[in-house]
Amino acid sequence: MSTQLEVLKQHLIDPEVCIRCNTCEETCPVDAITHDSANYVVNADICNFCMACISPCPTGSIDNWRNVLKSQPYSVEEQYTWGELPAQGTIAVPATSESDSVSATPPKAGPASMTQPAPGDDTAGEASGIEVDVVRGSTMPPWSAARPYVNLYTHKAPITATCAGNYRLTANETGGIDTDVRHIVLDFGQLPFPVLEGQSIAVLPPGETAAGRAHHARQYSIASARDGERRGYNNLSLTVKRVTPSDKGDTDGGICSNYLCDLKKGDQVQVIGPFGATFLMPNHPNSHLLMICTGTGSAPMRGMTEYRRRRRAPGKGGATGKLMLFFGARTKEELPYFGPLMSLPKDFIDVNFAFSRTPGQPRTYVQDVMKKRSTDIAAMLKDDNTYIYVCGLKGMEEGVIQVLADIANESGQPWESLWKKLKDAGRLHFETY
Ligand code: NAP
Repeated sequence: MSTQLEVLKQHLIDPEVCIRCNTCEETCPVDAITHDSANYVVNADICNFCMACISPCPTGSIDNWRNVLKSQPYSVEEQYTWGELPAQGTIAVPATSESDSVSATPPKAGPASMTQPAPGDDTAGEASGIEVDVVRGSTMPPWSAARPYVNLYTHKAPITATCAGNYRLTANETGGIDTDVRHIVLDFGQLPFPVLEGQSIAVLPPGETAAGRAHHARQYSIASARDGERRGYNNLSLTVKRVTPSDKGDTDGGICSNYLCDLKKGDQVQVIGPFGATFLMPNHPNSHLLMICTGTGSAPMRGMTEYRRRRRAPGKGGATGKLMLFFGARTKEELPYFGPLMSLPKDFIDVNFAFSRTPGQPRTYVQDVMKKRSTDIAAMLKDDNTYIYVCGLKGMEEGVIQVLADIANESGQPWESLWKKLKDAGRLHFETY
């Protein structure tokens, strides 16, 4: 008599590839993904295979599966201790059963397809009855985006970059500003490191944790255009804010950000990536960019703006579509790139600032300024050539969606259907932490 053994294809995250960006945990609609100071892990008791987390993961570390006995999945505690994924072996069978092992084949009728859903496929959760529309933005790039390279360099084989410059962007301490945001230029010399605006890299900070493990890689958006921070050079820039003891929410206490902020010209930096295949700009002429950001979330907007500025230069292709930017910071002294933004031609980019802590002024967020520009935003929403990018604090996401919904509804464009249309066409992108 043979024993009926139930095999589970367990969803796991590869700790060697994961850059701990928190995207999966934020995306999971049933809170199956969690983390400690070491790893991001999936709780097999909760995961329902809705696949909502798969597409947004910038590295692909989320897309790992091991066949295990359903009664003996890898526990969350066990996964926290992993430095790498366990190999897929045969499955040991409990002593009570007749045979010693079963082959590691998945159940024929699994709860859902284990393959990655096609970009933009919102049907992945249907089998489980889960509403996967918690994914607020597009899971595909604009149709005309250039094809990105991803994962060229990994934890096991990083690339060494050289710091070519480190400049403070925010007014200095003597101006009474503690916020230290830096523009950091990394050069890759003769080694290939092709990037697109909107992509990110991760940096491996030197040193170890108290437990003797290497520090995790930390992810940063690229702040320069695809053809280099300095045009024609094999370099890129990052926008990095120094983490002070009073800052909350940085899981490694700013080890990597502060390491970058302290870099000297000529210092070498271990880099992995590039990452990101969806938060990319459209390449077709006359496409419009509606960009909404807070603080260092301005990094990808700078890259996109600079690329468009170069393309617009005489002899470089001429006109581009409309660029409209909403940019929030505490004060103008704490807004990265304030000076350069102010000097861009008004007929090239429509810049709108929101300052929340200007003495004597009411607290203003990007959403408040967007409301004031609702007529122009409504016109952009009506245009199928408009692409929307939101980057910065997680907290802004809700408010920005609400104001977009209000503007759309009030201008006769029912938001629910417009939202779906934008998402399906790769026209609404979020990168918030
Ligand atoms: P910050 O200085 O803390 O905040 C920027 C502005 O956003 C402030 O005026 C702040 O107002 C305002 N704000 C706070 N809550 C808001 C809300 N719910 N809606 C709208 N505005 C709100 O920003 P930061 O420290 O630079 O942080 C930027 C974020 O971008 C971080 O979470 C970072 O991880 C993320 N990010 C960074 C990169 C990068 O490459 N460096 C890339 C992508 C994303 P008050 O504080 O005065 O309330």
